[in-house]
Amino acid sequence: MTPIVNRWPVAVLGATGAVGQAFIRLLDAHPWFDLTEVAASERSAGKSYREATKWLEGTMPAQVAALTVKTCSPEEVTAPIIFSALDSGVAGEVEAAFARAGRMVLSNAKNYRMEPDVPLVIPEVNGDHLGILDIQRANRGWTGGIVTNANCATTVMAAALAPLHQRFTVTKVFATTMQAVSGAGYPGVPSLDILGNVIPYINDEEPKIETELVKLLGTFDGNALRHAEIVTSAHANRVPVEHGHTVCMSVAFAEKPTPARALETMRSWTGQEAVRGLPSAPEPSLIVRDEADRPQPRRDVNRGRGMATTVGRVREDHLFDLRLVAMSHNVVRGAAGGSILNAELLAHTGQLARYLAP
Ligand code: NAP
Repeated sequence: MTPIVNRWPVAVLGATGAVGQAFIRLLDAHPWFDLTEVAASERSAGKSYREATKWLEGTMPAQVAALTVKTCSPEEVTAPIIFSALDSGVAGEVEAAFARAGRMVLSNAKNYRMEPDVPLVIPEVNGDHLGILDIQRANRGWTGGIVTNANCATTVMAAALAPLHQRFTVTKVFATTMQAVSGAGYPGVPSLDILGNVIPYINDEEPKIETELVKLLGTFDGNALRHAEIVTSAHANRVPVEHGHTVCMSVAFAEKPTPARALETMRSWTGQEAVRGLPSAPEPSLIVRDEADRPQPRRDVNRGRGMATTVGRVREDHLFDLRLVAMSHNVVRGAAGGSILNAELLAHTGQLARYLAP
């Protein structure tokens, strides 16, 4: 592991929301990053973070509680590394303004994910896609840049399918999701809509799954990101689970593996080399369970400090080739933790030092 000489000051935009709070929990005592600024909407700006935030889990770190919430402008927020947990309604303009102003933005919003020169990254799966940043900066004349992480349900799917795609080439995926309420942010879905219920619709979710998966499982050839040739059909459902998106998948392959070969492939998978040993990287990042009734969000969501993906029920499929179930923490692996791991990889590869040199 490359020794990190400097610590980096970082800011969180959208710091008061569900994902923003996860950033604050995960950045507390981070070995490389110091959280120095928090920002949110005009409603929160000017208040102390303690006053502006309805804190959802555990104890608010004291040094963050005392920070004054800023507005999301690069004139006010000065940190070189910007973690964005902004609502997509505002993320587009705000994130571009920070990238233009020379900051490295790690975004959770959908706005830039599918842009051809913007990396959409799960480090273990496609960390090498960060190479497109040089092209992004040249194309757009930005001195900073934008790196995105995927929709939280797509993250579950890509993490589980990456080893299988590498070896057997996935061609079709039929997916049904069971997505936790925390995926809708805070206050999110009204309790009378979700308690004792299943909602068979999540706005804009199915198109995100169907497009983002092929980018995540695609390749970077040094000039462009090439999408994988996979046809995906997704059914997205909201279920009364607090954290953890579960996805049931039927998968077709160019070369059909037996369940035993698929299991062996997933068990032995270690992901991209550069990620191993990074502070937020789980070991292993993919956990394969043999029990007939796993994964379960209640029992498996916090594995690898919320960064691991748990897979089970790998078996023959009557429609395609194999069926399986995968699950991970939507707010940690699927959002804040994923962004932090992206930033750690940029630090480790020297890209942060190269791009953010004064
Ligand atoms: P949330 O709980 O609703 O939080 C939204 C945040 O955006 C709040 O901090 C809010 O600040 C801020 N905000 C809203 N309007 C703003 C404005 N006009 N200017 C500046 N800040 C503004 O949502 P969330 O679940 O944390 O999601 C944040 C982002 O992450 C979204 O783009 C979402 O799609 C994405 N995401 C979420 C998950 C998940 O599991 N929740 C997973 C992956 C990706 P105020 O408190 O001041 O209003």
